[in-house]
Amino acid sequence: MIKLYNTLKRKKEAFKPIKKTVGLYSCGPTVYWYAHLGNLRSYIFADVLKRVLEYNKYKVNHIINITDVGHLTSDQDSGEDKMELGAKRENKTAQQIAQFYTKAFISDIKALNIQAPNKWTKATDYIKEQIDLIKLLEKKGYTYQISDGIYFDTSKIKEYGKLTGSLKRTHQARIKKNKAKKRETDFALWKFSNTKRQMEWNSPWGKGFPGWHTECVAMAIATLKIPFDIHTGGIDHIPIHHTNEIAQSQAIYKNSLANFWMHNEFLTADNKKLSKSKGNIIILNKIIKKGINPLAYRYLTLTTHYRSKLSFSWQSLESAQNALNNLYEKVSELKESSISNNPQSQKEFLKYINNDLDTPKALALMWKLIKAKKISSKEIIKFDRIFGLNLDKIKTSKIPVKIKDLIKQRDQYRENKDWKQSDKIRSKIESLGYTVEDSKDGTKIK
Ligand code: AMP
Ligand code: ZN
Repeated sequence: MIKLYNTLKRKKEAFKPIKKTVGLYSCGPTVYWYAHLGNLRSYIFADVLKRVLEYNKYKVNHIINITDVGHLTSDQDSGEDKMELGAKRENKTAQQIAQFYTKAFISDIKALNIQAPNKWTKATDYIKEQIDLIKLLEKKGYTYQISDGIYFDTSKIKEYGKLTGSLKRTHQARIKKNKAKKRETDFALWKFSNTKRQMEWNSPWGKGFPGWHTECVAMAIATLKIPFDIHTGGIDHIPIHHTNEIAQSQAIYKNSLANFWMHNEFLTADNKKLSKSKGNIIILNKIIKKGINPLAYRYLTLTTHYRSKLSFSWQSLESAQNALNNLYEKVSELKESSISNNPQSQKEFLKYINNDLDTPKALALMWKLIKAKKISSKEIIKFDRIFGLNLDKIKTSKIPVKIKDLIKQRDQYRENKDWKQSDKIRSKIESLGYTVEDSKDGTKIK
């Protein structure tokens, strides 16, 4: 049995899929800049969730969207569209910005060994679906129009704010000549192009663009059966974005869109959430440029439960890199047949991962078994179906003959105490991407 923490119920619940294939939707990146390490934590979490479901033999249909229009600088409905801002910043079209940063995001995902979703959905590919959704909400009486757009009337939803636990809905605000929305919690479904924009579409209400909270609902409806099983995102999405996704689904389907709503905690630096507005972001490229394996960051995130804050420091990332290298070394030394599969450790592993994705405990178990020499390479590779640290590649990677020849030559020079030649060969081996260590048995390669 898999137990998952459901934000909607504020407790862990046994997971039961609605249909044979699990429907999973993850709020995707707003592609106006590089994803930062905090954003990427969110997708590692969704990836581990998907892997846990698959480990338990479920089929998963995973959707990640690409927000390429409509996400304003404030999660509520003020400020500029982040995509238009990106275009201005780089003197490019919004489309070019979206293409460039979508590509960068997908490359980050690959470097972190996050499995590609079954489908990427781009918000701008679903404009018609979003307009249809707003029309339906309008027909059912959930919308009103003011000078800058069509808004959702949150007072019509009895359980508005259910996800935050406080059923928060603000009271009627004074409406000044239809300029302001009626309540703070009401949100834009369609915004009019009141200023010059690059991305705008015709609609029954006039030229404009869709609201961010409508995009995800329309894309989920287009790709999954409603309700679907699990919706994921970071905790910052609970009070506004996800609350407003649920409100639209309650209006149309009388359900909460998804049965499980799961949220990862923040990655922080100096006790502050990593975010562009706080100016403390780090992107994956920076890690790669420093010669750190991106999977060291994946390893670091696995050492903390996804519902706990993770405080980032370069020191902790270096420790993660050391631990990962150590793990690679141990795995490469494991003999295929050292011991047979151990049902007890399999059971314990499953207990941890099925308990709301307890990766820290699962990692600790793996290390305990390695230290006690009670794990076979086959078993560790099975564990890695959850961790995603490429342990299978370590096991099968062979040192090329060319390198082996260089090692032989170097050992010969060392025997002859020709340190100059031996150092020359060391540099050559290192330039080919290997590290060289001297041991009493001769040159050791990693
Ligand atoms: P965005 O591109 O802003 O829509 O964010 C993409 C994902 O990253 C969302 O699920 C956010 O909730 C999540 N997120 C944003 N900042 C952080 C952070 N510092 N730590 C963890 N997740 C975050
Ligand atoms: Zn979303």
